[in-house]
Amino acid sequence: MTAVAAPSAASAAEVRFEGVTKRYGEVTAVDAIDLTVPAGELLTLLGPSGCGKTTTLRLIAGLELASDGTVFIGGKDVTLLSAAQRNISMVFQSYALFPHLTVAENVGYGLKVSGMPKRAALERARGALEQVGLTGMDARLPSELSGGQQQRVAVARALVLEPEVLLFDEPLSNLDAKLRRQVRQDIRDLQQRLGITTVYVTHDQEEALAVSDRIVVMDHGRIAQIGTPRDLYERPANAFVATFIGDARLVEGRITSIEGDLATLEIGPAVIQKTLAGANQGAVDVALRPEALFIAGGTAPSNGIPGKVISTSYLGSVAEVVARTELGDLLLQIDPDAMPEMGAQIEVGITPSKVALVG
Ligand code: ATP
Repeated sequence: MTAVAAPSAASAAEVRFEGVTKRYGEVTAVDAIDLTVPAGELLTLLGPSGCGKTTTLRLIAGLELASDGTVFIGGKDVTLLSAAQRNISMVFQSYALFPHLTVAENVGYGLKVSGMPKRAALERARGALEQVGLTGMDARLPSELSGGQQQRVAVARALVLEPEVLLFDEPLSNLDAKLRRQVRQDIRDLQQRLGITTVYVTHDQEEALAVSDRIVVMDHGRIAQIGTPRDLYERPANAFVATFIGDARLVEGRITSIEGDLATLEIGPAVIQKTLAGANQGAVDVALRPEALFIAGGTAPSNGIPGKVISTSYLGSVAEVVARTELGDLLLQIDPDAMPEMGAQIEVGITPSKVALVG
């Protein structure tokens, strides 16, 4: 039996944008972006519809050419090179498999087109299919595979070309919720195993948090913030990021005193103490997320925000409660066994470590 060489990244390459702009007539889809994706990183472009994610991805692929600025891949200026001249593979949301070709022929297609003999191409294709856990499926047609398996074929087809950079454009949008979780983990495992530079586009913040080394949050063609999932969650740079990542309600707070790293923070009638390096006294914007809030109980003098329950939803593992308070309507995620009655008066408590300051 011949040993089948497993495909790997040719050699992971850094991607760098210097002042890259893309205009379509009057529309500026990408606006003077500076960005570096170090070799081997999985970077996700995240943001609402129309913020410029796909255009940025296509600029890396060479499917769009920049109106201004310079694109570097592996230190080489590729700004004017076409997609065919760049060593990059892209996985599309539609998978774009040929329905009349077998799985192995689909995966080996690009190699065959670039002149590799059919036998060798098929052998390499089998190696790529093994990488994505589809051993033994090479003779099937795409229509004989599940959605998740078709997605893996698309990944194998991208990997077999041994690209310097792998691009994903909303790769999970055709899968159901359960499969999405599994496939995103598979993509992350594979990416880490191969150490391949990867740029991933999604509008789903949970998916972005789960797969990424770093995330770029985009807003109107610009970078609103770039950082690790934790950075974005715990220290959102501005209101746009705070409300886009997690279900945050932005409220005004006030730091009334600081001792060492411990700040006393007033949020409406609530007063909490929170460890905050480098904070200053005065007004601050505070992001209150559902997981930072709880229903304060007991008879001890409370330190929460009084509120009235205006909606409750049972979601299985958690319950969601909306309380109307002087700070606006606050969403709480709580234990379903502790679900209050509609209309009940409650005190909303705040867990200091889960409160994020904005900016
Ligand atoms: P979505 O999540 O909806 O795919 P996106 O963040 O990927 O959105 P882009 O597709 O990059 O956004 O589009 C950014 C902006 O550029 C939008 O205003 C869009 O209408 C515009 N745009 C994109 N492609 C073209 C094009 N070929 N011609 C004209 N305008 C375009």
